[in-house]
Amino acid sequence: MWCLLQKKGWESAKLKKKKKGSAGMAVYNALVIGGGPAGAAAALTLRNRNKTVAVVANPPETTGLSKAPEIRNYPGLSASGREMQARIDRQLQESGAEILPGRALSVASLGLTFGTAVGNSFYESESVILCLGMPRSKGYPGEEELLGKGVSYCATCDGMLYKGKKVAVLGSGEETEKDIQFLESIGCTVIHPTGKNIRIEGTGKVERICMGETEVPVSAVFILGGRILTASLVQGLLLESGQILVNANMETNIPGIYAAGDCTGAPYQLAKAVGQGNVAGYRAAEYVENKRT
Ligand SMILES: Cc1cc2nc3c(=O)[nH]c(=O)nc-3n(C[C@H](O)[C@H](O)[C@H](O)COP(=O)(O)OP(=O)(O)OC[C@H]3O[C@@H](n4cnc5c(N)ncnc54)[C@H](O)[C@@H]3O)c2cc1C
Repeated sequence: MWCLLQKKGWESAKLKKKKKGSAGMAVYNALVIGGGPAGAAAALTLRNRNKTVAVVANPPETTGLSKAPEIRNYPGLSASGREMQARIDRQLQESGAEILPGRALSVASLGLTFGTAVGNSFYESESVILCLGMPRSKGYPGEEELLGKGVSYCATCDGMLYKGKKVAVLGSGEETEKDIQFLESIGCTVIHPTGKNIRIEGTGKVERICMGETEVPVSAVFILGGRILTASLVQGLLLESGQILVNANMETNIPGIYAAGDCTGAPYQLAKAVGQGNVAGYRAAEYVENKRT
């Protein structure tokens, strides 16, 4: 898996300057998950402190900000959410942060650093900042128990395990359509249920998907295209009602992991997301500097 990153031509001049990790790959000072206002504020602050930063980001239209018709309560600026998000994207690109389009699937401690899986690639960083937007605390019934036992968040990573089998895909969007085509190309029969009252059932492994009264036997369920359960993203992270617990420094219970924005709870407001992102970026920069002294 670690080799994939190198094969993908990631040894750009910029990356070559970065520290190398245990597996010989580049280690970012910080990896930010989420490209909304909180993630952008964290990344821009880290760049101002001359830190190397990667931002793992779902498409811009998935941010809460993009959905806001008009923001009128942000000091000094009044615009539609889409317009503000477009400016944020440009600013991030110009800042020198690496933008990694995709969905972060898991964050794990590697001792002194963290490893984050994005699709079937892995990235290593000294700190991680979670800026996930509104928390997804409630999954489908059966999702959490059967994760890794037939429930998967990544068709590219796990699809081949179910080659030729009947599988279900939950989710929508362009990437989901591409993943459905991929699963069909490896001989899977794909069902794509939508609507409410979806449950995933099985004893020890996925056996069926239920939609109200209807039950369809399947070998796997791929949950694609959206956010993943915060509890599944980072094992051991303290949550309260699905929201990430932080202190005033935006530190979570795991040293080196910070959180900011809507994922830390109400008020769900742009100014609060940006302020928390700024504090998280600042504190993560200090954390990285202090580790070296
Ligand atoms: C309709 C509407 C109107 C609003 N109006 C106002 C207003 O007038 N004034 C105001 O102050 N606020 C308003 N808000 C709220 C404001 O938009 C949010 O508070 C703000 O966008 C929060 O920023 P954030 O960065 O925390 O989250 P978001 O903007 O939601 O960004 C989070 C991003 O992280 C991505 N993400 C999540 N998990 C992963 C993962 N595993 N891998 C990769 N990416 C991931 C998400 O897909 C999303 O793109 C409004 C919100 C909505 C929906």
